[in-house]
Amino acid sequence: MPEPFTSIEKFTSFSAKWIMKTDTSRIHLYRRMDRFRDQLQHWLAVNKTEPASIEKLVVMASPHAVLQTQQADDDFFKSVTFPDRLSPRIPEIGRWHPEHFLSRKKLRTITRNICNADEPLGLNVFQTYHVHPNQIICGVQCPSCSKFGMHRLKARWHRHACGHLSKGAHVQAFKDYHPLFRPLITNRGCREFLLLESRNVVCRILKSPGMHSFGQGKGTFYRLVFDE
Ligand SMILES: [Zn+2]
Repeated sequence: MPEPFTSIEKFTSFSAKWIMKTDTSRIHLYRRMDRFRDQLQHWLAVNKTEPASIEKLVVMASPHAVLQTQQADDDFFKSVTFPDRLSPRIPEIGRWHPEHFLSRKKLRTITRNICNADEPLGLNVFQTYHVHPNQIICGVQCPSCSKFGMHRLKARWHRHACGHLSKGAHVQAFKDYHPLFRPLITNRGCREFLLLESRNVVCRILKSPGMHSFGQGKGTFYRLVFDE
């Protein structure tokens, strides 16, 4: 039986818990799922692919996510899952559709075409949302309490108010920087964004594994690359 297409959206959160508190959030989630399904349907039509049955499934990326909805129905919980339950959900969804819409060969071709068509979203956040770069909150956010204002202490980040220590709190700051500005950063840009004064400290952060540099001296750029 061919696997069904699933439109999967990841919800990630910097805070420890992502809580869906209101019914409005649930309706918003439905709308987004419908939009993704419509986009996939449109993409398939443009690429001259036969119509397929498209089921929707949201994977809550954070294992700490808590779903609290006022009027959750069965359909809602059928539409949401967690990463560790994703594997059994795929064949389960397949059983809803005993018809063979697409052959495995066709499915592989479509999968390859979708992967090939994937390209970074070249969105200018500042123009699109009428936000000025000065409005961006700089600094490193505490992974424990989500407040900004962590200080660098000997290869670790520390937030005095809550006492939390973190080795990699700056990684989230880089992940925020990436879509806002560009995947490249200089030592100076990094100092301004992380609110650090020491060029050497920033140099050590930017030379951590996974960072690729090019250029020389003050013209050195570092490419922000993330595992996920
Ligand atoms: Zn904290």
